[in-house]
Amino acid sequence: MLNDFQGDMLWSEIEEVVGQKNVSTLAADRLVYSTDWSWIPQMWLDRGIQPPAADFVVHPGSAQEISAILKIANSYRIPVVPWGGGSGTQGGAIPTYGGILLDLKRLNDIIEINEDSLYVTAQAGVNGSQLEWALNEKNLTLPHYPASANCATLGGYLAPRGSGTISTKYGKAEDLVMSMEVVLPDSTIIRTPPVPSHAAGPDFMRLFLGSEGTLGVITEVTMQIERLPEVRLLRAMLFKDITTGLEAGRRMMVQRLNPLVIRMYDPSSTGSLVKEVLGYELQGAYMIIGFDGWEEIALAQEKRALAICKELGAQDLGREAGERWWNHRYDFYYPPWGLHLPYLYGTVETISVFDKIEQLYHAKKEALEKTFEDWDLSYIGHFSHWFPWGASLYDRFIVKDPPQDPHEALKLHNRIWAVAVRTSLKNGGMLNEHHGIGLKLSRFMRAQYGPAWQLLETIKHAIDPHGIMNPGKVGFGRGPGD
Ligand SMILES: Cc1cc2nc3c(=O)[nH]c(=O)nc-3n(C[C@H](O)[C@H](O)[C@H](O)COP(=O)(O)OP(=O)(O)OC[C@H]3O[C@@H](n4cnc5c(N)ncnc54)[C@H](O)[C@@H]3O)c2cc1C
Repeated sequence: MLNDFQGDMLWSEIEEVVGQKNVSTLAADRLVYSTDWSWIPQMWLDRGIQPPAADFVVHPGSAQEISAILKIANSYRIPVVPWGGGSGTQGGAIPTYGGILLDLKRLNDIIEINEDSLYVTAQAGVNGSQLEWALNEKNLTLPHYPASANCATLGGYLAPRGSGTISTKYGKAEDLVMSMEVVLPDSTIIRTPPVPSHAAGPDFMRLFLGSEGTLGVITEVTMQIERLPEVRLLRAMLFKDITTGLEAGRRMMVQRLNPLVIRMYDPSSTGSLVKEVLGYELQGAYMIIGFDGWEEIALAQEKRALAICKELGAQDLGREAGERWWNHRYDFYYPPWGLHLPYLYGTVETISVFDKIEQLYHAKKEALEKTFEDWDLSYIGHFSHWFPWGASLYDRFIVKDPPQDPHEALKLHNRIWAVAVRTSLKNGGMLNEHHGIGLKLSRFMRAQYGPAWQLLETIKHAIDPHGIMNPGKVGFGRGPGD
């Protein structure tokens, strides 16, 4: 905790680095940067409680300025929290212990678009949609399509290891990274090797993927890009249940049909969300399949996928239904369809191998609906990111009438998450697939990793001995010195 004198001295030091207009202690700025997209701080604000706020909101303009800020933070032993777009759902960007909030949006230059080797180099604070529009002008694309592209940054794609709509073919954001510039907690600016595949020792670049600002600040990134495809073929299928749908998806993946997307809604979401957003009244498991690239190849892949679906008794709803989903694919997450207050809700997404994923779904549904029966909890899910070995389960709980008292509401929220997470871990699932850990899942990291957790703690202490970087997140420490 700083006294007024220390606060003024610190202000002067920060101002010297970034200039007066790029540092703020205004209550309004501190309030705005006290909540990301996660339920906890939004609920606090909704109930009239000020969430923890940063002491200083700082807008650096370069890696060198960030390095200088980290030097200052180390000498004062105060926390530093990187902030991309603030669209994270796990509370990763919330300044839980005050300190300096580093808003990275001024780092928004697109430095190079290379059309021969197909890569783009950009600063980490560039907005996802603005980067995409610049690529589209050259008939190119960054094939990471998260529903949050309008409000997220390139660094924010990577720091929590995000997945986009077409990850099944092109990989997660982390699979597209070629190299990065990172400012380490001790203020050293480093660059990872220029290519992602080599045999020059351990791949330390991957340390920063999933570190969510706890191991440094990503300032510049080179990502692989693609030419826009000749065709994109979308189609909707209806399975009688998730068992047959999961088997169809598994066959498409293990037979390497290279689908762009497979998204299967469970019967509950088919009967609710799909009906509300797309207007279809259906019973069963609604599945979207998609293929892209050269027309003759995409058509051949689609033909084989359709044969698999038919073998498993699916009804082909046709291309128009697939296109409709594609055109409305982000609507599911925004008003009026996205989950919102006053509900108590959470996306408890996870991932597992094919032989466990269905059991995992049923176990979570049963555990959550039974344990929180008195709260009339409802559980819905879809299977969205597929691999040759398994798939992710994007599942959610919703309590429409939670306690009004904010402390009671928070305790219920945390109890529901604990049941969801422990059921996932017990049934072969992970803490999550793409939203990251943040504040919300921090307390479960030891349960996830067991004795291996010590390895990550050792690395954290070695590179951030004063614990200044984003304390309380990703399972690491509660504040400087912890
Ligand atoms: C409507 C909606 C839809 C969404 N859909 C998707 C989706 O389809 N796929 C998906 O993966 N996620 C999705 N998300 C979650 C979220 O948007 C993503 O995780 C997004 O990539 C976060 O980016 P951001 O720039 O907003 O990061 P922030 O929320 O600002 O930060 C997230 C975490 O990363 C850290 N961080 C941010 N930038 C840096 C940096 N440069 N260096 C080091 N650490 C950094 C922060 O400290 C924080 O811990 C969605 C969110 C919303 C609100």
